[in-house]
Amino acid sequence: MRCPVCEGGTKVLDSRDGRQGEIRRRRACNDCGHRFTTRERIDEVLPMVVKRSGERQPFDRRKILLSLEIACRKRPVSPESMENAVRAIERWAATCGERGVDSSAIGEQIMHHLHALDPVAYVRFVSVYQSFETIEEFEELLHEMEKAEATDPEGQRTLFGGLEAVERPLPGLRGARRREEGEGEGD
Ligand SMILES: [Zn+2]
Repeated sequence: MRCPVCEGGTKVLDSRDGRQGEIRRRRACNDCGHRFTTRERIDEVLPMVVKRSGERQPFDRRKILLSLEIACRKRPVSPESMENAVRAIERWAATCGERGVDSSAIGEQIMHHLHALDPVAYVRFVSVYQSFETIEEFEELLHEMEKAEATDPEGQRTLFGGLEAVERPLPGLRGARRREEGEGEGD
């Protein structure tokens, strides 16, 4: 980008997320030193999601947010952190330069972000998701969980129960499991 004052070359000092998919960059001119801010919109054209069956459907951010919200229920994860994760996944999908993204790749993105957000939420998602083939199936499970929780306060524990069922230890899993056990489960 050229300097608006002298048309010299510029460098980026700082980048941050602005409102609604916008990236704000603080720039400085290499020649005259002028400092200015640009706002760039990332390409908002989201790819289609390709299910295992080969069927394509539009990218749906609500499903991703719902997955995060349920995995993070009663965990110290702010709505803002979840929103940031959804936005990051949207940016990933919008910029990976493919005509479609596999629903399984979206599941992996969700795991990646949950791993950074909260170990227990991560284990919940992984333990449930690994037994399902696609995010669509996971979504069905989410609805079942919602229903179970509405009728039975212990429903969530039942559905997410048996963390031992996660056979392959994944990064962060061991610590997460220990932490959950330490929360006075043995009553
Ligand atoms: Zn300049």
